[in-house]
Amino acid sequence: MSGLLAFFRGKCPQCRKGNVFTHTVWNLKRFRDMNEHCPSCQVKFESEPGFFWGAMYFSYAYTVAFLIIIGFFYFSYFEEYSLGWYIGAIIGFSLLTAPASFRMSRLLMMYLAAPYRKYRGNYKGTR
Ligand SMILES: [Zn+2]
Repeated sequence: MSGLLAFFRGKCPQCRKGNVFTHTVWNLKRFRDMNEHCPSCQVKFESEPGFFWGAMYFSYAYTVAFLIIIGFFYFSYFEEYSLGWYIGAIIGFSLLTAPASFRMSRLLMMYLAAPYRKYRGNYKGTR
């Protein structure tokens, strides 16, 4: 499986086989639940305490990017607009995409760190 496909399917960044998350993104109560270790290669997903704090920056960048994109279309295509509708649209969009944003941010954090993690002794297996 290619890295990009594995990323979008939420697979382990090391072996690209095991699922990172225990439930689907549509399960609004448990979309945050992660496996502690990869079910396939046993790599520990949170390699150190606070590893996923960096994912908040990706989530922030994602939200700001869509704030700009939505703003561009909103102010370009609507002749009469109000700041309240724009802010409401941003808040609505952020809430609707929060589960996907959360998961994408964590996956991005893991995929960016994956090349450096396999030498740290918590990886058992071959790619
Ligand atoms: Zn794995």
